[in-house]
Amino acid sequence: MNFTVLTIFPEMVMPFLEHGIVRRAIEQGKISASSINIRDFAEGKHKVTDDRPFGGGCGMVMKPEPLAKAIAEAKDKSPASKTVLLSPQGRTFNRDVARELASLKGLLLVCGRYEGVDERICSSLIDDEISIGDYVLTGGELAAMIVIDAVTRLLPDVLGCESSACEDSFESGLLKHAQYTRPRIFNDDKVPDVLLSGDHTKTENWRFESSMMRTLIKRPDLFKTRPLESREIEVLIKWGENIKEILHA
Ligand code: SAM
Repeated sequence: MNFTVLTIFPEMVMPFLEHGIVRRAIEQGKISASSINIRDFAEGKHKVTDDRPFGGGCGMVMKPEPLAKAIAEAKDKSPASKTVLLSPQGRTFNRDVARELASLKGLLLVCGRYEGVDERICSSLIDDEISIGDYVLTGGELAAMIVIDAVTRLLPDVLGCESSACEDSFESGLLKHAQYTRPRIFNDDKVPDVLLSGDHTKTENWRFESSMMRTLIKRPDLFKTRPLESREIEVLIKWGENIKEILHA
């Protein structure tokens, strides 16, 4: 999969590509990633990419011409890519959107700055708008990096055998179970015995109940988005029968 980030701050984005799983995915040829500096397509000595908004008001707006030229260049290099504007007004990025984007050949990620981009860019050159949440950032670069990161780890064979995206939070509709590593005792707090028992069935059952409990406490809304599975109902009935002991514990 190919990622191209269109930005006036490529120096923010490029170091991010040099670390961790994203870097390894690039080295292994699972993804390619580059940036295009929108300023390179601006006219004049000062290479200005913004201008005052028509109708007045505060702030500046990204000029359409440099953006249009930068998008054209990116499309030339990666014609099968979808052009996505990072925007607080876009659809909210989540696991399902990440999976959808992971099935594409490439993404051109357009990063706004200032008060945003000229509307004629949005209406004619943008295929999709994505927001990383209901708050406003100063620019789209962090959002683009979040999209690259979350999408990359969903691509086949990117995570390797040491971790698996299908066991992550949200994949099965639940949050991931509690996790422990050495030492066995830390600050008088012991790792649950079952995880040291070597009994795979008991360990799996404990992890499932841990996932259920965490989801119920931290994100009960996740249970409302789908019908409960029979295994989940069994656990809830078991907890219901033992609720006094559970509350006491
Ligand atoms: N004035 C715009 C508005 O109220 O909708 C916000 C512009 S924001 C200061 C500048 C740029 O940051 C946006 O064009 C967008 O690219 C990026 N940005 C800000 N918040 C974002 C978010 N929640 N998700 C994705 N991108 C965001």
